[in-house]
Amino acid sequence: MTTLEEKILGGLDDEQREVATSLNGPLCVLAGAGTGKTRAITHRIAYGVHTGVYKPNQVLAVTFTARAAGEMRTRLRDLEAGGVQARTFHAAALRQLQYFWPQSIGGQLPAIVDHKAQLVAEAARRLRIGTDRASIRDLAAEIEWAKVSMHTPEGYMAAAVGRSAPAGLDHTTVSRLFQSYEDVKTDRHMIDFEDVLLLTVGVLDEDPKVGAAVREQYRHFVVDEYQDVSPLQQRLLDLWLGGRDELCVVGDSSQTIYSFTGATPAHLLGFTKRYPGAPVVKLVRDYRSTPQVVHLANRLLAARRPEPGVAGQDAQWPAPLELLAQRETGPDPEFTECSDDEAEAAHVAQRIRALMDGGVAAAQIAVLFRTNGQSQAYEQALASNGIGYQLRGGERFFQRREVRDAILQLRAASRTPTDDAVPQVCRDVLASLGYAAEAPSAGGAVRERWESLSALVALADELAVARAGRETPFSLAEFVAELDERASTQHAPTVQGVTLASLHSAKGLEWDAVFLVGLSEGLMPISFAEDQADYDEERRLLYVGITRARIHLMLSWSLSRTPGGRASRRPSRFLDGLRPATAGRAGKDAARAPRRRKAAGPPTCRGCGTLLATASERKLGRCGDCPPGYDEAVFERLRAWRLRVSQEAEVPAFVVFTDAT
Ligand code: ATP
Ligand code: MG
Repeated sequence: MTTLEEKILGGLDDEQREVATSLNGPLCVLAGAGTGKTRAITHRIAYGVHTGVYKPNQVLAVTFTARAAGEMRTRLRDLEAGGVQARTFHAAALRQLQYFWPQSIGGQLPAIVDHKAQLVAEAARRLRIGTDRASIRDLAAEIEWAKVSMHTPEGYMAAAVGRSAPAGLDHTTVSRLFQSYEDVKTDRHMIDFEDVLLLTVGVLDEDPKVGAAVREQYRHFVVDEYQDVSPLQQRLLDLWLGGRDELCVVGDSSQTIYSFTGATPAHLLGFTKRYPGAPVVKLVRDYRSTPQVVHLANRLLAARRPEPGVAGQDAQWPAPLELLAQRETGPDPEFTECSDDEAEAAHVAQRIRALMDGGVAAAQIAVLFRTNGQSQAYEQALASNGIGYQLRGGERFFQRREVRDAILQLRAASRTPTDDAVPQVCRDVLASLGYAAEAPSAGGAVRERWESLSALVALADELAVARAGRETPFSLAEFVAELDERASTQHAPTVQGVTLASLHSAKGLEWDAVFLVGLSEGLMPISFAEDQADYDEERRLLYVGITRARIHLMLSWSLSRTPGGRASRRPSRFLDGLRPATAGRAGKDAARAPRRRKAAGPPTCRGCGTLLATASERKLGRCGDCPPGYDEAVFERLRAWRLRVSQEAEVPAFVVFTDAT
């Protein structure tokens, strides 16, 4: 083995090595979180390049997030396989579209919509349909679903049968709004993110010259996170392949978390039907997390039962692959019940400070939440504790004023010849905008501004190292071009601070310490989960969250939204059987917080204990057979009786909630 071959294959186990050395497709890798899927396919590409089977520029590796693509490119350069295209579907399609648009369509590629909600609102105004902010958001999501599922506005009505239409609108109205939104975009000469894929599919499909050119360019395809591919992305992949089978896919059906946008694990699970005889490699050794974290993740999946009283019992739940922990033992996961949201954020900030004092780097800590709206409390708690943070979501980075100013100044500087120490020029230029080697002592906006600028400096350092030793020196113009590309694909550089991110955007990533916050009913599972498929997806989302942690895992929830407020929330049903009988407590009202006698479960009638099927029944807390005015004492007796029966049977036939207050 050469030294490089040793570097490529040496750090892999037998199954991973099988993946890395099976250079001809089709190949499917099915494996759980942290088992080294991404590592195995990255090394496979490097091995293919090293052995001369692949020409680097003929490989297209598709990842789910821009950050994952960036990490893969860095790793490939490290394994001497630079030049391979590792991109998201969007970034790859956008490049092709930009290239082929002038010859195939003519003129310049239209601008890309960055504020979709405004255009959807305009579409509604044109039709004189009153909408509020929440319904605009729901509508935008529904239009996105229709587009990635490749439905036209007319086709939407038939396709949406069985789906609940957003914002109390009927499907016909949604279809009209969808068409109106398309018209608004056309009038403004704009395209949205989904159009980038749809138009690329259109151009590849209809222009034989373009199709042939792209297929000539790319010969080998690798797709990471294949369980979350949408029908539109699959169509694009098919066009790229053009009937060839040089395809390697990796995925984990237990991590399907984007079904709501039209993604489906059907492509992953049906791979061998499509390519009969294709080898399927399974990886089960978890290299990421401690046995404690792995155990919790396994138990969460194993505990899945059909939700009583919830529609769609026959929903698919592919058998999860049990993970085998490889790392040494670590601390037990921490479970903390907090009195309110503010107390929870303060508790998290305090624990982060303790971890940092104990030597864990801020960049190795993440706080993950279900909805973006939850981030505010954590931003505030971290800022007031002087802890730097970054909110994940690339758009925000490149939209920051200081970043836009910095790119303008760097662009201007790149027009004047300098002597190729790009990092130093970058430092000098950004100093005028507030960059300094030391972090400012002030928090808030000053700190955030400094963090953005230092992220750009760190990126300049990183690229300078990666490109050292090349014939042509790394230039400032090249750095600016890299920034432009990252801005268009929303691939933000890493800011050195604690990461605040939604569970969805944490996919594929890992940190030494992970805080999973807001684990209460209504947030996890989210309040609008209504059928079995929704609950299953929420469970998978929590699984993704748990498996992001390498060593420290902290799970918390709060009983009330506001300090001193009524303790109206229950811990997430997914924690049943996972959390110890006595969780830690935080918050000044914690001692007085009411305890639940029984674990969380679906809402039941206070009268007869039957499951409540409709929203209005749930609101009233009783079923139609137990009318209002039903004697509270009777309720009480029934409750006691049911509790006794369920205890005698040793099986909680129904779960009864009783506040001890
Ligand atoms: P996810 O499902 O979350 O995307 P994954 O299966 O893609 O996870 P990777 O991110 O490739 O997993 O690997 C998880 C971690 O384990 C990484 O830190 C990786 O470097 C490490 N790892 C993977 N394989 C090995 C190995 N054979 N030896 C040591 N460490 C490994
Ligand atoms: Mg991965």
